[in-house]
Amino acid sequence: MKNSKEFNSIRNFINGQWSSAENCQSVPLFNPSTGAVIGSVPMSSAMISNQAVKAAAEAYPEWSATPLPKRMDFIFKIVIAMQENLEMLAHSVSLDQGKHISEARGEVSRVIEIVQMACSVPTLLQGETIQGIANNINGRVIKAPLGVFCGVAPFNFPALVFGWFIPVAIATGNTFVYKPSSESPLFMQHMMQLLVDMGLPNGVVNIVHGDRSVVEAWYDNEDVVGVCLVGSTPTAKAIAQGCGRTGKKTMLLGGAKNFLIAMEDAPLDLLIENIIMSGYGAAGQRCLAVSNIAVVPEIYDEFVERLLEASKEITLGDAMDADIFMGPVISSTAKERILNYIDIGQEQGATLALDGRNPTLPEDNQDGYFIGPTVFTDVTPNMRIAKEEIFGPVLSILKVGCINSALQMIRDHDMGNGACIFTQNSYYTEKFINDADVGMIGVNVGICAPHPYLPFGGIKGSLVGNNKVQGKDAVDFFTQNKTATVRVVNPKGNDATPTKPADTSVRSCVAD
Ligand code: NAD
Repeated sequence: MKNSKEFNSIRNFINGQWSSAENCQSVPLFNPSTGAVIGSVPMSSAMISNQAVKAAAEAYPEWSATPLPKRMDFIFKIVIAMQENLEMLAHSVSLDQGKHISEARGEVSRVIEIVQMACSVPTLLQGETIQGIANNINGRVIKAPLGVFCGVAPFNFPALVFGWFIPVAIATGNTFVYKPSSESPLFMQHMMQLLVDMGLPNGVVNIVHGDRSVVEAWYDNEDVVGVCLVGSTPTAKAIAQGCGRTGKKTMLLGGAKNFLIAMEDAPLDLLIENIIMSGYGAAGQRCLAVSNIAVVPEIYDEFVERLLEASKEITLGDAMDADIFMGPVISSTAKERILNYIDIGQEQGATLALDGRNPTLPEDNQDGYFIGPTVFTDVTPNMRIAKEEIFGPVLSILKVGCINSALQMIRDHDMGNGACIFTQNSYYTEKFINDADVGMIGVNVGICAPHPYLPFGGIKGSLVGNNKVQGKDAVDFFTQNKTATVRVVNPKGNDATPTKPADTSVRSCVAD
């Protein structure tokens, strides 16, 4: 195990102070491109987790009472700070997550768009009113903040998940405690410092590093009103259970297994180019990465030949090297898990058409966690490689007779995050949009990530509960609707006399 010259002591941030979680254990932080130790991450105790919640709870009254335009000042400043520091932030994502530097820039750029969406919170917060529901009585709905929210991030999108949770949560008047993944905490260290530099009041955003015990401490903490997660489905279910017991709100995005359907009229160049980006980008570690490719017989042979040809061109190496295409997977454990799936695929009878187990690597990256592009053909829907989330650069190709069989495969699958179709036929397109049993649909695009103004999230096993991130949905999650029924009484007692008791329509509207 090599050690890096640049050592990052990852710290918690609670009530405006960086702290190193003394007396807690820590785990090493790795650079997945080289296997070198580049830092240490504290595994904070439940007590520290609760201290962060206390800080957020103490900050809440003043922050929620801060005039909305003043809160929005900070959201605008986040956009500017991220634009000015894009390169530094992308570097931090690439270093500990192993995401190729151009994809890390792409992730940070997408977060900037998400924060720009959060700049529309004042419009999205506008409630509803209805005048004259009875004599001198008006009805009004207001969207109010709730208190302290807590968020948990996965390893694969350290910047994106910050963007999904924190800007909207604080713009709407809540305060926040955030637990990054202990495998990719670097982005949030830098992002938090930018929030500090712009003068965000103490306690509005707090960070606690650690494992599940940080999260479990929140379930019985009465100051926590809600918990949000982006992670695997078992983790989403565990949090749903813990929060359900104490009645907290949840927004829980889970795992995925995404299908891509290639019809006979699919534009082949576009199709191959998109599969390469979707299947091997981020080394296959995206929740919207294509994993199962269902192809109709008319183009099957040509498609397989073209895909293998293009897959063999892919170069692997250090995530910071702009000249290579694909970086490593996150850890040695993840690598072992993916290699095990390759064995399972062979044992269950799929054909290993391209074996990525021993890729060619630059000398400095021999100890990194690399797997090359891997393609299975002759896959059937009941094989484990077609059913389970592999989360690596492994593609399974299935033959399907027609669009109905492809849609049935999607319907039969437990997960329902995203699915894409490649076709030029409007009948197939409309049928797919109507019938594909997933939360996010792509037509002639390989990664069907919705724009930040639209909701992002799957259905079935990919979403626990019903709340999604981005846009109006996120504002709804981080607020509560309160309905006011207001009788207008004129103190001078002339034109707005209180309603006469005989008026039964009023009695039915107003609980006296
Ligand atoms: P993970 O579920 O192992 O961990 C996610 C976070 O939850 C981490 O911070 C971890 O410390 C914490 N955690 C783990 N077990 C917990 C428990 N029992 N209770 C409370 N907290 C717990 O996921 P990961 O390996 O970091 O990320 C990959 C997964 O995330 C994949 O399944 C991927 O599909 C999913 N993901 C989904 C989306 C989406 O939009 N649906 C986006 C990105 C990633």
